[in-house]
Amino acid sequence: MSHPFLDLPPMSAAQFAAIEQRVARLLGTRQDVLIMQGEALLPLEGCIRAAAGPDTTALNVITGPYGQTFGGWLRDCGAEVVDLAVPFDSAVRPEQIAEALAARPEIDFVSLVHAEAATGNTNPVAEIGEAVRAHGALFMVDAVASVAAEPLLPEEWGVDLCVIGGQKAMGGPAGVSAVSVSERAWERIAANERAPRRSYLSLLDWKERWIDAGRAALPHAPAQLEMLALDACLERIETDGLATVTARHARAAAACRAGALAMGGGLEPFVHDSAAAAPVATTLRTTGGIDAAALVARALAPAGGLPLAAGGGALAGEMVRVNHYGPLATPEVVDASLSALGGALIALGGAPEVTAARRAAAAVWG
Ligand SMILES: *Cc1c(COP(=O)(O)O)cnc(C)c1O
Repeated sequence: MSHPFLDLPPMSAAQFAAIEQRVARLLGTRQDVLIMQGEALLPLEGCIRAAAGPDTTALNVITGPYGQTFGGWLRDCGAEVVDLAVPFDSAVRPEQIAEALAARPEIDFVSLVHAEAATGNTNPVAEIGEAVRAHGALFMVDAVASVAAEPLLPEEWGVDLCVIGGQKAMGGPAGVSAVSVSERAWERIAANERAPRRSYLSLLDWKERWIDAGRAALPHAPAQLEMLALDACLERIETDGLATVTARHARAAAACRAGALAMGGGLEPFVHDSAAAAPVATTLRTTGGIDAAALVARALAPAGGLPLAAGGGALAGEMVRVNHYGPLATPEVVDASLSALGGALIALGGAPEVTAARRAAAAVWG
């Protein structure tokens, strides 16, 4: 029996290198791009372990759960970590970064999450990059939730290590991911005795065995299906146009936010300032004692298939996430999500303006 996933011819080094080039084009960078054979946590951990050691003083910006994870890895590496935490319903301001750097001149590494799907906020990477560059620290950014949802120009913004994954706005696979690496970052990593070598986490192994060897032979059999899916989603973004894809996400977020503001009756935007709201997903706060997890369960009961979730961990009681990314960044999904949430609010004793909410969202799409 033949099957589209089975009996595939092996992926060639040339094919693999062409997909890396496609990622580089997507990011508008001439820096090295490596596609790592695992979910995005692999390059995120690989970058931190490659760059940090006992001599490192790191400024770790925490605007959501991933920033917390990075702090743990940095401490594991023996780095001294300065945590800069901001409330999860806002973004970090570039002045806060500049002040933190000025207070600790020895800081030589900065880690930041661009957009957080889990909390629905996005940080001004371009402006932060200016402050980091002026200070001279190495700058690592987790752009898994921002790539293809909003502008992302790592090289222009002075990002030394930029990690992306295909599973959010790109509408692609979760099983492979990519990182762009600046020349400065390679130098730092090569000088770090503690950087993983002969390890699945190692960026250096791939540099030596793949990039420096002219991308002529793959060191290992690649995750072929995931690579093909990544290539397909990159091709689709090129066909649709990256600007079109990001605009669709921006409108989905604006429509969802406008809808929630018009709805009231137990829901409001979680992120206060619209400029700090991530295009990838809209988070909402329940008011009047309504439990977010119960609200989401109600909203999903009749409809199903909607991208609604309660917040993770401590946020489960008060946060609703509308994950309108990838193929779900559409007027129909936003409208159905608002309708379902409105119905659930009524069932739980709230008094939402559902029709006004749907009209406000539709007006954003025009
Ligand atoms: C989604 C996401 C990742 C990828 O992690 P998963 O938990 O596997 O989804 C990494 N960083 C950020 C900021 C994300 O939003």
